[in-house]
Amino acid sequence: MASILIVEDESRIASFVAKGLRADGHSVTVAGDGVAGLDHALSGAFDLMVLDIGLPRMDGFEVLDQLRSQGSRMPVIVLTARDSATDTVSALDGGADDYMPKPFRFSELQARVRVRLRNASAGSDETRGSVLTAGGVTLDLRTRRASVGGRTLELSAREFTLAEVFLRNPGQVLSREQLLDTVWGLDFDPSSNVVDVYVGYLRKKLGAAAIGTVRGMGYRFNG
Ligand code: CA
Repeated sequence: MASILIVEDESRIASFVAKGLRADGHSVTVAGDGVAGLDHALSGAFDLMVLDIGLPRMDGFEVLDQLRSQGSRMPVIVLTARDSATDTVSALDGGADDYMPKPFRFSELQARVRVRLRNASAGSDETRGSVLTAGGVTLDLRTRRASVGGRTLELSAREFTLAEVFLRNPGQVLSREQLLDTVWGLDFDPSSNVVDVYVGYLRKKLGAAAIGTVRGMGYRFNG
């Protein structure tokens, strides 16, 4: 079981999350503002942090920024407003490992906590190599299961392979030809728009912002 830090100023949410995580056997500490949260986070005593964005004294973005700039790789799950895609993107860009839109059911957060703790403690190369995670998307290469933000996704075999190529190359521009070669094989008609069609399918499932179009060059996974 793990030591988990919750940084959240709304006591109702903090106690609801703390209670659930304690029931799962974790030891939980709650900090009610960003400064106290950062102090705790930098102590090295915690395995994972659940971090709110809107916090007194120092907001969650600043906490995350300082934590990462001091070299901590502690898994961080950020709590964002459900209607704020900007917060979500900023949090992931700022080094959060995952996000949880508010309001949420405890089981949704629980699933994310489980994935983050499992990934962080994945000791063997075999285990580490079998799960790919970027931009809130997780692919388990052994079970062929996919999830985004802890929610299971139904992907066809081709969609899964395409997603795998993107997750192995986060932030890189991949040309249609590269994707076609890798996912469909060289014998596929290069004039086909199959790549564009499948990128469209993946955007519907992973979120439109997950895969960017780079005009005249190809696609980029925003991991
Ligand atoms: Ca708040």
